[in-house]
Amino acid sequence: MHNSAFQALSLPYLYTMYDIEPDGLSKAVQDLKTLGFLGYNVTIPHKQAIIPYLDAVDENARTIGAVNTVVILNNRATGYNTDALAILRALEPFKGRFAGKPALVLGAGGAARAAVFALHTFLNVSDITIAARSKEKGSLMTADFKIKNARIVNFVQEEINSSVSRCSLIVNTTPIGMHPLVDASPLSDDAPLKARHMVFDLIYRPLETKLLRHANAAGATVVGGLEVLIQQGAAAFEMWTGKKMPMGVVRKVLEEKLKVE
Ligand code: NAP
Repeated sequence: MHNSAFQALSLPYLYTMYDIEPDGLSKAVQDLKTLGFLGYNVTIPHKQAIIPYLDAVDENARTIGAVNTVVILNNRATGYNTDALAILRALEPFKGRFAGKPALVLGAGGAARAAVFALHTFLNVSDITIAARSKEKGSLMTADFKIKNARIVNFVQEEINSSVSRCSLIVNTTPIGMHPLVDASPLSDDAPLKARHMVFDLIYRPLETKLLRHANAAGATVVGGLEVLIQQGAAAFEMWTGKKMPMGVVRKVLEEKLKVE
C-alpha cells in the first residue's frame, strides 16, 4: 500500500518490515530514531507494550490503550492509533443510517476497543452492546471509555440474535470468517438480519466474508474491512509525509492483491 503510494507521488521513501522480539522493543524505538526513519506502524504483540518507550502518546491512543502508528519528528517518537480514525472514516458516510440508534459490537479485543471508542466518541450511536466471550474485557473497555449507555452480553447465539433485533448497526471485530476459515460467521444463519441493518465487518481477507454475504442477501447495507485497512494506512501516510494518499491507486493495488491471495 505505502510503496505504491510513494511511487505514485514520486516520494523518495520505502516501507519495509522488521520482526522485533518483545525484549528488543525498547532498543528498536531508539534505533529507528537514530536511523532517520519518518515513522512506522506497530502490530501484534507490540501495540500496547510500546507505549512506555515512546516520547509522547496521542490522547485518543492512550485512552484506547494501543498504538499502531508512530511519527518521528525532531528525534521524538509520538504514538497514534489510526484504527479508530479509520473506522470513523469508513462509517461516517453512512452515519445517517445508524446515528441515534443502538449498535452491536461483536468481540472485545484490540479492534473492538478502536471501534467502540469511535462509535462512542464520534458517531453518536444511542447505546452500545458488546457481545464478548470474556465479559470482563467488555466491562473494562466501557469503564476505560467512561461509557454509561453500554451493556455486555455473552457471545452466545440467543443473546446475539436478540441484540441484532434491537440494534441498527452491527460491527464484527472478531476474526470469525477470516481466511482460511471462510465458511464461519459470527452470526448464525437464523440471525434476524433485515434491510434496515448496517453491517460492518473488519475482516478484509476475504474481501466479502460469509457475514457480509448473509447481510447482503437480507438487503442490509454492508461495509468490509478493506475500507478500514486503506483508511488506517491513509491516516498514517498523511502523518508521515504531509500528503494525501492516492486512494484510487492504493485501492486498486490492494483489491488485486487480496483477490489473488
Ligand atoms: P484480538 O485483539 O485478538 O481480538 C479478537 C476478539 O475476537 C477477542 O475479543 C476474542 O475473544 C474474539 N474472538 C476470537 N475468536 C472468537 C470466537 N470464536 N468466538 C467469539 N469471540 C471470538 O484481535 P484484533 O486485533 O482485535 O483483530 C480482530 C479482527 O479484526 C481480525 O480479523 C483482524 O484482521 C481484523 N482487523 C482488521 C483491521 C482492518 O484494517 N480492516 C484492523 C484491525 C483488525 P477473547 O478476548 O475471548 O479472545
